[in-house]
Amino acid sequence: TEACLKAIDGAGALNAFVHHTPEIALEQAVKADARLKEGDAPAMCGLPIGMKDLFCTKGVPSQAGSRILEGFLPEYESTVSQNLFDAGAVMLGKLNMDEFAMGSSNETSVYGNAVNPWRRGNDDTALTPGGSSGGSASAVAADLCLAATGTDTGGSIRQPAAFTGITGIKPTYGRCSRWGVVAFASSLDQAGPMTKNVRDAAIMLEAMCSYDAKDSTSADLPVPDFEAALTGDMRGKKIGIPKEYRMDGMPEEIETLWQDGIAMMKDAGAEIVDISLPHTKYALPAYYVIAPAEASSNLARYDGVRYGHRATLDQGDGITEMYEKTRAEGFGPEVQRRVMVGTYVLSAGFYDAYYNRARKVRTLIKRDFENVFAQGIDSILTPATPSAAFGLGEMASADPVQMYLNDVFTVTVNLAGLPGIAVPTGTDRQGLPMALQLIGRPWEEADLLSSAYALE
Ligand code: GLN
Repeated sequence: TEACLKAIDGAGALNAFVHHTPEIALEQAVKADARLKEGDAPAMCGLPIGMKDLFCTKGVPSQAGSRILEGFLPEYESTVSQNLFDAGAVMLGKLNMDEFAMGSSNETSVYGNAVNPWRRGNDDTALTPGGSSGGSASAVAADLCLAATGTDTGGSIRQPAAFTGITGIKPTYGRCSRWGVVAFASSLDQAGPMTKNVRDAAIMLEAMCSYDAKDSTSADLPVPDFEAALTGDMRGKKIGIPKEYRMDGMPEEIETLWQDGIAMMKDAGAEIVDISLPHTKYALPAYYVIAPAEASSNLARYDGVRYGHRATLDQGDGITEMYEKTRAEGFGPEVQRRVMVGTYVLSAGFYDAYYNRARKVRTLIKRDFENVFAQGIDSILTPATPSAAFGLGEMASADPVQMYLNDVFTVTVNLAGLPGIAVPTGTDRQGLPMALQLIGRPWEEADLLSSAYALE
């Protein structure tokens, strides 16, 4: 813990940690030492981790990367962070992220972007660690902590993991409690671990999951011993390769990475099967209707009354002006765009044309996966991202759709509620990390982690 605290102090330029909690860390570390001495050492005993700023942590600033939550100190602990503390984990601080988890580059954060510790060859250009869990990815990749929590609504664990050469798993929807995690799009949001390797991911995921009556979508299922399931033995397993993920204009390096992954799976004994997920091309448009719709509803609670920031008012301003000024000041441009898109697609005149249609598309995407699993496919291998990490400021905010394309391989998994993992398996010609994604059957994280282990 002390070594990590020191590393964090020396790595301010990465802007990964946005709230430091050394007192909490040292107190938890002393307790962990005592537990170790008593021979009562749970799985994460004494392991220093970082917490994404989206998790409400009792008495510790939890701003979700937004100005509107300035000064908010939660009265309660999120279930996931509490589970980690119960398992002995030590919290070093809160990690940078895109505002309300909306983004793919960490550039929408009120704290300014986190920075990727990797560089392109000798080129000094600062690169994005990805988003929205960019601070988590940067901190783990730079050895500021042993692991970190992330959340994934459309790719926010897997894409930053891919950009920084670490491992990130989004479990099946319902595995981790959403209680105390600031809501973005409630039917898509899931927490998960971001770690240095698959074994760490297995250990940390097990500590994070639990049935929680405080989250109505939490699954009342036993949590398996994920670490014990890691064999990497793929004999008798069928890996599907979906043809729709081979996109026009896909960089050759990604294609090569994918082929190398297929070869690794064959070597480990897997049977490779070509499959089709015909509705894949509609996933991104459906996601960018459903996620903003849910966000516009979830973010209605930030009204300047109950939480955080409130605008200074002029003489004669009423409650409407208070809402308007507070929300105009408190939300950044990307969040405002999502709230406006979401409100539009939910409005009486357009609800059927957009929101309901997107929900139908979502069902078709889910059925695509159900069909291939019914054919005996155990997991699906795809690229994790369409490129390696890009330069900060390179993807112009003038064209948000360009940024949204980052999620092309990851959003289907959230729409279908499935588990997905990004594993670093290679580098591009400039030496930047690149990752493959494995998508698993619902609740089969143990099998998914074991398959990912075969790719390491
Ligand atoms: N980049 C996607 C978005 O902006 C996904 C974000 C996430 O998974 N939280 O919505």
